[in-house]
Order: sequence, then structure tokens, then C-alpha cells
Amino acid sequence: MPQITDQNNIKTKPIILLDRDGVINYDSDAYIKSVDEWQPLPGSIKAIAALSKAGFRVFVVTNQSGIARGYYDEAELLAMHQKMMALVEAEGGTIEGIEYCPHGPDDGCSCRKPLPGMIESIESKINADFTQTQAIMVGDSKRDLEAGHARGCHPALVLTGKGRDSQYKEFNFYFDVYADLAAFALATLHKFA
Ligand SMILES: [Mg+2]
Ligand SMILES: [Zn+2]
Repeated sequence: MPQITDQNNIKTKPIILLDRDGVINYDSDAYIKSVDEWQPLPGSIKAIAALSKAGFRVFVVTNQSGIARGYYDEAELLAMHQKMMALVEAEGGTIEGIEYCPHGPDDGCSCRKPLPGMIESIESKINADFTQTQAIMVGDSKRDLEAGHARGCHPALVLTGKGRDSQYKEFNFYFDVYADLAAFALATLHKFA
């Protein structure tokens, strides 16, 4: 991706948007329904903390249709997110915000990825326009990358979670591929150091 530098020739750090399941934590076809089932992928917590400590703003953007399907409620989801945040904070980093879509595929909402509603709400919360301000959307599913691409974010696929199945799907845009979030973080830290 193009390198943007400011007047002091310091590379402007892109905003990092992360899908959750299959990127930060293990995914399951049976959904992640409880705090106990929420288990981080190897290296993912340190990767988020490293990005955050280096000055990248990190957000999570996650479809949680398990709520609409009645598999867990918003209180349980909140508890999962508190666990995730606490783990990142224990490594010295922070997740600045978490957007989730609690709806099902037939609810007609505008937040469920591949629609970009959750990304748009981050833009409005931090007063940014990702077609102008550099942002990267990291996901393991085609719809993550599509949502990011729809708002001008640079798409990055990780091969954890559903990533290996997603990588050869038909895309009409270019995306980067990384083995996992740790590999993404390492490359991104070097790129924008
Ligand atoms: Mg995912
Ligand atoms: Zn929604």
C-alpha cells in the first residue's frame, strides 16, 4: 500500500480494524457462545498489544448473529469482550473500540458485514473518513474484506479461522495475505516504523 508521510517524514500509521472470530480468537461452526469458549489464537493478543503500543489505533468489527439466533445474549458477549480487552491490557495495549452486529442475515440491518455500517460508525465516532485516512481491515472471511473495501480500507486476509477457505474465493479487489494476526502485526510494525 502507498506510504503516506507527514511533514516530518514520519509514516502515518493506518487505523487497524480487526474481525474477531478466526482472527483474534478460535472460531467454531457452533459459534463462540460463552466466555469460556472465547480462546485467543496463538500470538493474537501480543500482536494487538504490540500494534497499540506502537501507536496504531485498534478497533474490532464483528458480526455476532449468534445473538439473533439466541445462542448467547449481549451480556455474555460483553463478558467475552471484557476478557479480550483485559488480556490485551495485561500486555500493555488497548482496543479502542468494539463494534458488533447482533442481527441475523435476514434482519435487513446495515451493520452486518459485508455491509460497512460498523466501519462507518467507527468513522463517525473518531471523526475520520477511511477513503481519506488510511485504514486496514483484517479478516478471515470474504465479507470482512468486502466491508473494509467498501469504505476504502486496505483489505488484509489472515489464514487462521476461515481464511484458508476464503483465500481463493473470487474477489474484485486486491488484498494482502498473512499467516495470522501476529504475522500481520510484525509486517505492519516494520512497514510503518
Ligand atoms: Mg471471522
Ligand atoms: Zn446488524
